[in-house]
Amino acid sequence: MAFRHSHSLGQNFLSDGNLLSAIAADAGLTADDSVVEVGAGMGALTVRLAETGARVFAYEIDARLEEYLRPLERAHANVTVIFGDFMKSELPDIGQYKAVANLPYYITTPVLFRFLDDPRCRSVTVMVQLEVAERMTAPPGGKEYGALSVAAQLAGSVCITRRVGRHMFVPPPNVDSAVVHLEKNDTPVEDDVKRLVRAAFSMRRKTLVNCLTGAGYEKAAVLAALSDMRLDASVRGERLSPAQFAELAARL
Ligand code: SAM
Repeated sequence: MAFRHSHSLGQNFLSDGNLLSAIAADAGLTADDSVVEVGAGMGALTVRLAETGARVFAYEIDARLEEYLRPLERAHANVTVIFGDFMKSELPDIGQYKAVANLPYYITTPVLFRFLDDPRCRSVTVMVQLEVAERMTAPPGGKEYGALSVAAQLAGSVCITRRVGRHMFVPPPNVDSAVVHLEKNDTPVEDDVKRLVRAAFSMRRKTLVNCLTGAGYEKAAVLAALSDMRLDASVRGERLSPAQFAELAARL
């Protein structure tokens, strides 16, 4: 019987060989790498990742896909398929790794933040909705710029490697997509910077001072830090660059 794709699990599969090879190439894998893939589906991308010689750990939540993924695992000694919810699974003890995936879109943001927050993750190469890709790479000031932009750009250097039309997926989703590659910096982002960024974007239409005081920062200290940084007291969070957020966190 034909496989019935689950919309709620984000099952929009890829089959174009050129695109799959391009995603694996964007990740810059070598045989020395370990790769974590979220959402193996029928294994179309998993095979391309395995062909680089890297050690691949592929997560898949849908047990119906065992009939495709178990044979793939048997055919490739460097592939381990783990059935379960990636967000509820501890990674095996694999040391540093690269994340590569055609993500299930309903959990894009938590998966991205998990990879951004995990110091063992050295790079992230993922298919996401075009709108998310644009948010991750957005410069300060625009409407796409927010907590995800700052988190991604503080974590490393991020770019869109390719735009992918909805017709490339089976079944086609109702949005276009893009592949994003993020090469992480050696030093992880400090917790106080992450907390500040979350607070700064917690209330979109409020000033930065109001967002931060609402989240428990002391108003006088925020005002003094902004003044030292030559920023106006009425500035909004979306005006600050990632570097300015890091500086503000250090001053506070
Ligand atoms: N990699 C395949 C491809 O490119 O054709 C499939 C990608 S499809 C967009 C996303 C896959 O993620 C689906 O197979 C879905 O079942 C799986 N998935 C959804 N939620 C998941 C979760 N929480 N943990 C692991 N896999 C998940």
